[in-house]
Amino acid sequence: MEGLPRAPSSAWASGVEGRRLDVRCWKPFTINDLEIGRPLGKGRFGNVCLARLKENHFIVALKVLFKSQIEKAGLEHQLRREVEIQAHLRHPNILHLYNYFLDPGRIYLILEYAPRGELYNLLQRSGPLDEQRTATIMEELADALTYCHNKKVIHRDIKPENLLLGLMGEVKIADFGWSVHAPSLRRQTMCGTLDYLPPEIVEGRTYNEKVDLWCLGVLCYELLVGRPPFESPSQSETQRRILKVDVTFPPSMPEGAQDFVSKLLRYQPSERLPLAQVLEHPWVKAHSWGVLPPGAQKAS
Ligand code: AMP
Repeated sequence: MEGLPRAPSSAWASGVEGRRLDVRCWKPFTINDLEIGRPLGKGRFGNVCLARLKENHFIVALKVLFKSQIEKAGLEHQLRREVEIQAHLRHPNILHLYNYFLDPGRIYLILEYAPRGELYNLLQRSGPLDEQRTATIMEELADALTYCHNKKVIHRDIKPENLLLGLMGEVKIADFGWSVHAPSLRRQTMCGTLDYLPPEIVEGRTYNEKVDLWCLGVLCYELLVGRPPFESPSQSETQRRILKVDVTFPPSMPEGAQDFVSKLLRYQPSERLPLAQVLEHPWVKAHSWGVLPPGAQKAS
């Protein structure tokens, strides 16, 4: 794991990267630079805990991954890609990867702390969200994905488990484990959770950044209804329903939201509502808290 990419110093603005900017006192991070706080959660390959930089008390989330487990699962390449991509993205709705360091057995990722935890847990705890909350999340994600797509990054795995919540409840895209730099050569990998898979990935066809639009439609449905649209007793049934775009809207779902979701859940990727129009959709505009400046996008 020695070849993890260097984080871009120009992107660093917080106390976590200050030392990297000053070459005179450049010294890599070690665990001794941090005070370790309470556990925040457990992942497949390690743990996440709250931490504080001793130097300036800057609060972060520290993800500790075990090299042996990553190597055993053959995921070194994927992790390297995840670190490389996330370290280069800087957007208020994308979880910041500030820095990383290694010791002989572990990889430490210094991440932005998301105080309100996973969107998935919120859904489990409180059930479906209201229109205001859902439309705001759609707006935030559309802006963050516009930023990613402009940088030729496709996320491919937008779902509640991969979305964290900031202090004000703003969404933070957190897991870039499946994301890819979209080169001109498009890929055909089966990835992601079945419920969120777009038809072109189920069929193993080539795909592009429009897979993220499909996921946005599935997410909007799940946030408002409490379960994803193609959920079925078996995986083969889920796949069949995805390929037929077999969506039924419960009568309780507002008409504007139904219109929004049905414009994203299109079999043909080219027919899905583009991100710029997601921001302009009447249901989104009527219900989102309008965290983006009116008529403007944050993403560039
Ligand atoms: P992960 O290994 O990324 O799946 O993370 C495991 C758990 O730790 C998640 O389910 C979250 O509840 C929590 N977690 C991960 N990253 C953060 C973060 N940056 N801020 C707050 N909680 C986090």
